[in-house]
Amino acid sequence: MAFEQTIRAAVACEGVGLHSGEPVKMRILPAPAGTGIVFRRVDLDGFTIEASSRNVARVSYATSLMKKSVLISTTEHALSAFIGIGLDNAIIELNNLELPILDGSAQPFVDMVLEAGLKQQRRKRVYLRMRRALELREGNKFIGVYPAEGYSVEYGINFPHPLIGKSEFEVDLSRDLYRREIAPARTFGFRDDEPAMRNMGLVRGASLDNCIVLTRDGVENGPLRFPDEFVRHKVLDLIGDLALVGRRIIGRVVADRAGHAMHTALVSRLLRDNSLWEETTFETDQAARAALQPAFSAQMG
Ligand SMILES: [Zn+2]
Repeated sequence: MAFEQTIRAAVACEGVGLHSGEPVKMRILPAPAGTGIVFRRVDLDGFTIEASSRNVARVSYATSLMKKSVLISTTEHALSAFIGIGLDNAIIELNNLELPILDGSAQPFVDMVLEAGLKQQRRKRVYLRMRRALELREGNKFIGVYPAEGYSVEYGINFPHPLIGKSEFEVDLSRDLYRREIAPARTFGFRDDEPAMRNMGLVRGASLDNCIVLTRDGVENGPLRFPDEFVRHKVLDLIGDLALVGRRIIGRVVADRAGHAMHTALVSRLLRDNSLWEETTFETDQAARAALQPAFSAQMG
């Protein structure tokens, strides 16, 4: 917890992009301390794009990064997985413009990295500790980040659908709950929206194997992995978008009916105002645990 980590060995997977429908091969490679997460387009002479707020491009149904007109699309599920399991430094090679959607969740990325293993590095992990609140509102959409111990994320959604309705979920990421409660939650879409989205060049790679497809009153490809899988997936997306801060957050994030555009707006506002937070490091894992999981440490004596 006090030190940065990278992956022990390279791992690979392949699939299709959710929106582009393009086939893509992806590799996750070890990287030196201080690298962060860096995407590399091997089909474009190894052009690199850092997973950073300054490279956020157009954001609507997925989060994309762009640098000098080179695009990397749908970064949120992999970045969410990396935050969830504590992978700080890695090179992500891609031979196309969009990450593979795989099963629509973060689970395959988690499994890939943990299969290779994580390796602790010598550099201290820099945390961004919230000192003041930041809130953004847009009509009935809301997102805010507040000073708190540890890192927790809370989401509320409200879809007029019998399986969703009003749904809320909160997770404390300092307690290893990510893998169990968040990583398996899959992306979802409404069958009725599909033609319009395809016309906009979206969901061309969507299938019953990589997203939950909702009909007017049910789900085409059940069973769900959780009764509230939808809101859990929103938490997963938010964690992935907040990864663009480039440092781990110590604070509490609350979102209500937000989306990728508001998630990334929060990140850029946060980084622009350094009176909202301070950077902090910990000397030992024990010190980090005591600061991030106070109740847990007390219980454990
Ligand atoms: Zn998603």
